[in-house]
Amino acid sequence: MTDSQAAAPTALDPRPALASAIVDTLVHRIGKDAQAARPHDWLAATILTLRNEIIERWMESTKAAHAAGAKRVYYLSLEFLIGRLLRDALSNLRHNDEVAAALASLGVDLAAIEEIEPDAALGNGGLGRLAACFMESLASLDLPAYGYGIRYVNGMFRQRLDDGWQVELPENWLAHGNPWEFERRESAYFVGFGGEVTATTSGQVHWSPIEAVEAVAVDTPMVGWRGKRVNTLRLWNARAFDPIKLDRFNAGDFEGALAGQMRAETLTRVLYPNDSTPAGQELRLRQEYFFSSASIQDIVRRHLQYFGDIRTLPEKAAIQLNDTHPAVAVAELMRLLTDFHELSFDEAWEITRATFGYTNHTLLPEALESWPLPLFERLLPRHMQIVYAINARLLREASKVDGIDGNAIAAISLIDEGGERRVRMANLAFAGSHSVNGVAALHTELMKKTVFADLHRLYPDRINNKTNGITPRRWLQQCNPGLTGLLVEAIGEDFKDDAARLTALAPFANDSSFRERFAMVKRSNKVTLSTYIKDSMGLTLDPDAIFDVQIKRIHEYKRQLLGIVEAVALYDQIRSHPERNWTPRVKLFAGKAASSYHTAKLVIKLANDVAKRINADPAVGDLLKVAFVPNYNVSLAEKIIPAADLSEQISTAGMEASGTGNMKFALNGALTIGTLDGANIEIKDHVGDDNIFIFGLTADEVAEKRASGYRGRQVIEGSRELAQAVNAIASGVFSPDDPDRYKGLMDGLYEHDWFMLAADFDAYAAAQREVDAKFGDTAAWGRSAVINVANMGWFSSDRTIGEYAKQIWGVM
Ligand SMILES: *Cc1c(COP(=O)(O)O)cnc(C)c1O
Repeated sequence: MTDSQAAAPTALDPRPALASAIVDTLVHRIGKDAQAARPHDWLAATILTLRNEIIERWMESTKAAHAAGAKRVYYLSLEFLIGRLLRDALSNLRHNDEVAAALASLGVDLAAIEEIEPDAALGNGGLGRLAACFMESLASLDLPAYGYGIRYVNGMFRQRLDDGWQVELPENWLAHGNPWEFERRESAYFVGFGGEVTATTSGQVHWSPIEAVEAVAVDTPMVGWRGKRVNTLRLWNARAFDPIKLDRFNAGDFEGALAGQMRAETLTRVLYPNDSTPAGQELRLRQEYFFSSASIQDIVRRHLQYFGDIRTLPEKAAIQLNDTHPAVAVAELMRLLTDFHELSFDEAWEITRATFGYTNHTLLPEALESWPLPLFERLLPRHMQIVYAINARLLREASKVDGIDGNAIAAISLIDEGGERRVRMANLAFAGSHSVNGVAALHTELMKKTVFADLHRLYPDRINNKTNGITPRRWLQQCNPGLTGLLVEAIGEDFKDDAARLTALAPFANDSSFRERFAMVKRSNKVTLSTYIKDSMGLTLDPDAIFDVQIKRIHEYKRQLLGIVEAVALYDQIRSHPERNWTPRVKLFAGKAASSYHTAKLVIKLANDVAKRINADPAVGDLLKVAFVPNYNVSLAEKIIPAADLSEQISTAGMEASGTGNMKFALNGALTIGTLDGANIEIKDHVGDDNIFIFGLTADEVAEKRASGYRGRQVIEGSRELAQAVNAIASGVFSPDDPDRYKGLMDGLYEHDWFMLAADFDAYAAAQREVDAKFGDTAAWGRSAVINVANMGWFSSDRTIGEYAKQIWGVM
C-alpha cells in the first residue's frame, strides 16, 4: 500500500480527527488558539500530537525487550548528528500524507513547519552522522538499543560568512524548547572528579572525589522504519548537586553562590570546545568522563535490575565505543566491577573485554586521542591506577609473545613514554575490547599495518572490518521524494524494506524513457536547490549546468583546496579558449572548519574569494559559477545531495577512513569523482569502473612518495596549468585587497605538499575533462547514474548494523 492509499479518505476518514487532535494540543499544551498560533506553535503541536503514538510504541518496545530478557546494544558516542526529526518520524510512521492533509485543512503547510524545526547539531561530521544513521537502523532492524551521549545546549557552532571569513555563532537549537525530549529526573547519577584514593588494610579501595556533578538523563525516541520499534537516545545533562549555596547568597556573594551550577553547566554547553588551550583540553576530558561514567552506571543499574547478577553482563549488554572519546568507559566499568561489586581484577577484566567493542575512525596521528598523564591523574586518580593495572597485565601478555621486542612493547603500552607522558586512549579501547573494527576495507587493512601493527600482532583476531553505511530512509526516501516515487513506479515498494532490492533497477539503465524521467527528477531537484541558493545567497544558477559538489568538514586531507585550484585552472582555460565547447559547471562547496584550524578557515576564505571573482566575470558567464553555501549541516546536506550530478570525494589516498557523504550522493544518482580511498574503493567495486571517475595516487604510492622526500615544487614546475593557477592565487589575483593573503598557503604546496595536491592535480584535471565529455552524452551519463542507484543498496546502514549485530554484538 502506498502512502497516499493509506491516507485515502474512507468512511472513517482520520483527517478531521487528526486535525482536531492537533488543535487540541495547540490549545491545551501550547496555550494558543488556531488564530494566534505562530509557525513554531504549529510545529510543536504537530510534534506533540505525533509523539503520543510514538510513546505508545516506545513503551511497547521497552516492555517487549524486558519480557524477552533480550540482550541490549549500547552505542556510546560523543556525537549524534541527528538533524531534524519531524519528517523522519512522519515518514517512518508513514503518516506524511495524513498529517500534511490535516494541517492543510487548518491552513498550515507541513513543509513550511518542517523547515523551521531546528537541526539538532550534536555532532561535527561523519562520525556523528554515522551514530545517527546507526540509531535509525537499530530501530528499523528491531534491535533493542540505547544511544548514549551528551545533550549539548549549544552543540556545534552555526557558521556565518563575513566577507568570506567563517564566523562561529552559538547554535541555539533549544531556544523554542524541544518537544521531542523527556527529562528523566529519576535517572540521575553522581559523577566525581579529582580528590584522592585511599585503601584499607583489607585492600578495599575508596575514591573520594573533590568535586561532583549530577548527570540527568534526557531521552529522545528514535523511530525505526514502519514504526516497528522505537529505541532511546539518552543524552546526559549536567547539574550541580547544590544549585545554589544559600549561605553565600545570603552573605551577598551572588556569583559564588551560583558558581557550582555554572561549572556544571559548562560541561554540557558546547561540542568540542576549542582544545588549543589547556583549559579547553581539560573540559574535553571532563566531558568524556562525565558521559562515559553516567552511561556505564546506567547500564550496570539496568542490568542488575533486570538480571540480578553482574557476572552475566556480557550476555545481556554489548557496549560499542564510537571512536576513543568514550574509551575511559573501559576503566569506569573496571572500577565499578572491582570497587563496588567486589569482583577480582581478572574476573572484572574478562567481563569488560567481553562487553566492549571499539570502532576506530582515524589513522591521523594528530587525531589519535591521548591525555597528558598529570591531567588524567589529577582528574581521575582511581582510573589512573586502573589504567596502570591494565597496562601491567597487557605488557606481561605481550612480553610472552615471540617477535614482540622493546619497540613493540613501547607501542603497545597504554602510556606514551616518548616525551611528556600521555595516556593513549586508542590503546586503552583496543585492550579493553573483544572487537576492534575499522570502517572501510582499506582503512581496516591500514589499521593493521600502521597504528595498531603491534597490538594486532599480539591479538591477531581482534581487528575486523565493518564498512560504514547510511540510512536510506533519510538519505533517499525523505530527502528525495521525486526519485523515490520514480523508483516505486519502476520496481515497486520492496526496496523500502530492503535496500539491496534496488538492484532490480539495473535493467532500467538501458531504458531511454526511464532515463528521461530520471533526468527530469534530477533537474527538478536542481531547480529547487537553485531557488534556495538564489533566496539565501542571491546567486543565480543554471539548472542545466553540471552541479559539482564538495560538501564536508573543511580539512586539508579532504582537499577542498584541490577542488578550488582546479576551479581556478578551469577559469583560466575558459578565458583563454572561449571558443571551446565547455560544459557549463556549478561548483558548490560547504563545510565548517574547526574554530582553531587556521588553514581550513583560510581555505573557506579562498573559496569565497575565487567565487566572487569568477561569478562576476562576464567572460565566463554561465560556463562557471562557484558558491560556498554557509552553515553545512544535515538539513543542508538533505537539500544539496538530491541535486548533485558530481560527487567530489578527493581525499589524499589513505587518509579518509570511509566517508559516508560519498554513499549519500551515489544513492541519489550522482557520479563520483574520487581517489582510491576509504569506501570509494568499495563504491567502485559495486557500481563498476565505467560508472565512477577514479584518479590519482593510491595509498601505497602516497606512502612511498612521502618516504622518498617528495616536494610539490617538482610537480608544479612541470605542469603549466597547475603552475598558472597556483601562481595566480599566490600573487593576489583573487585577493586584491590583501595580495599576500594566500602566499603562505601556496608556498606550502611548493615546499611540502603533504596532502599530495600537486602530485594528483594533473590526473584530477584530466578526470574532470572526462566528466565534461560524459555529461555532454546524456544517454551515457544517465545510464551510469541509474546504475549507481541500482548498486548502492549495499551501503545501507541496515547492512552495516546487521554485521555488527551478528559478528560483534551477538544479537542477531
Ligand atoms: C554525511 C555527512 C557528513 C560526512 O560527510 P563526508 O563527506 O563523509 O565527510 C558530514 N556532515 C554531514 C552534515 C553529513 O550529513
